[in-house]
Order: sequence, then structure tokens, then C-alpha cells
Amino acid sequence: MQYLKTIGDAYTGYWNYLVYEITHPQVHNYFYWLLGLSVLVWGLEVVIPWRKYQKPIRRDFWLDGFYMFFNFFLFSLIGYNALSNVGVELFNQLLGQLGIENLVALEVQALPSWVQLFVMFLIADFIQWNTHRLLHRVPWLWEFHKLHHSVKEMGFAAHLRFHWMETIVYKTIQYIPLAMIGFGIQDFFIVHIITVLIGHLNHANLNWSYGPLKYILNNPKMHIWHHAKEMPETHPYGINFGISLSIWDYLFGTAVIPKDGKDIELGFEEDETYPEDFMGQMAEPFKK
Ligand SMILES: [Zn+2]
Ligand SMILES: [Zn+2]
Repeated sequence: MQYLKTIGDAYTGYWNYLVYEITHPQVHNYFYWLLGLSVLVWGLEVVIPWRKYQKPIRRDFWLDGFYMFFNFFLFSLIGYNALSNVGVELFNQLLGQLGIENLVALEVQALPSWVQLFVMFLIADFIQWNTHRLLHRVPWLWEFHKLHHSVKEMGFAAHLRFHWMETIVYKTIQYIPLAMIGFGIQDFFIVHIITVLIGHLNHANLNWSYGPLKYILNNPKMHIWHHAKEMPETHPYGINFGISLSIWDYLFGTAVIPKDGKDIELGFEEDETYPEDFMGQMAEPFKK
């Protein structure tokens, strides 16, 4: 019963939050930040495109736009918020039974807040880089991650084209380490907005790699190779796994940019038979 109540509360709580977000534009507003950053990056694609022949409304533009709002808002609305609240409750109960009151192993609260945010960004990005590699290495996880790789014409909105299961995998793996250093979800706002901008740019039709900063920041000219249909023989499971930072790929030998990737074919083996509609793509991994 307690869990049902948690689910119900999360549901109505999130719905009220979403309505409030849309009707109350203010600085800490995810909805308008996502919208604004999307318009900004799309505007750049229109004004200074890398592939000049690519239409501003490219193939799957609207589908990916739908994924953007589904993954960012609706999935939280209909499921993730509720599930994660239950998950956290169960997890804390389990810890309680084991006699553990508090997970915090390292007190970050004592540090200045910009240092805290920076440390959190670094740790979260490294965990996500590892999680992304797992999505490529573990066959059943790859079935879910294929959806992100099914984009055939690259543009900013492909950033949030992924199966909702990825949200669960990423957040679950990230939760314990971040909880151990005492971070709460509410601290994420600025970090989250910065990662949305970098992620949008990574997928944008832009000829950018930020000069020497390319060794630190992931960028469009690097990430396009992550989506290449054909992988180099030396890296059959993939290359350039970076989310916001490219530094992990350079440190661990998975950074590969064989040539200018402007016109390479994107996708994966046998992607010709992959479903092209939302419902088909949602169901696909469960058929395997
Ligand atoms: Zn990938
Ligand atoms: Zn991508």
C-alpha cells in the first residue's frame, strides 16, 4: 500500500510540476530551457550547416522531436518518477535492515557549491561513459541502445532519441555512487542544462570540434563517428563513447576519428529492417 501511495503521489506531483513549469516561465524551468536550446542549435544548423544538402527538417526530425519531449518529460511523468521514488524507498529500507543509516561516504557539502557541481559533473559523466560502453557490450542492452543508433540523418534532436529503458539503466547505475558522496537530485539543474546543450551540439549538423578543446569536450565531428555504420576492426564494439566529455575516450584509447565524418553512413548492421515508427521501436527490444 505504501508503494502504491508513493506511485500515486509521484504521478500527481509530477503532473502538477509539469503544468506549473509550462505556465510559469522562470529561470529554473526545464521546459523552456529545452525548447530554447533546441531552437538555438537548430538555428545554427539552418544558418551554418555542415552537410549543406541536408534539409533543415531532416528525415525523422519530428519523430526525434517527439522523443525529446517523451524522454525528457512524458517518461518521467508516466513512469520514471514513480518508479524511482519506489526504488529509492526500497533501497533505503534494505539499507536500514542491513543497519546502514546513511550512505554518504564523502562529505561534499563542505565544499564551495561550484566545486560540488563540477565534481558531480565529472563523476556523473565518467559513470555515464562506462554505462554507454556497457550498452554496446551487453547484447540485451544493445537491443535497447540500437534505437539511438537507428538515426540515418544526423541532427540535434537525435540526442534524445533513445528507448526509455536507457533512462532506467543510466539512473540506476548512477544512483549509488552519487548518493555515496551525498548528492541529491535537486542539485542537478545547471549540470543538466549544460549537458543538454553539449548533447544537442554533439548531434547537430555542424562542422565543429572546438579546436584544442576537442580533447576535453565531445563534439559533432567526433560523435558522428560513434554513429558510423561500420566500426574499425580494432574497435568492433564501438568508438567515441563520450557523453559530454571526450577526455575518457582519449585516456582509455577509444577515441577514433579516421577521417572527416561529414558524409559517412550512419546506423548499424541490418538496420534496413529496423522499425521506423515510435511504437515499433518501443516494442523491438522485447521481441529478442
Ligand atoms: Zn552508442
Ligand atoms: Zn548519439
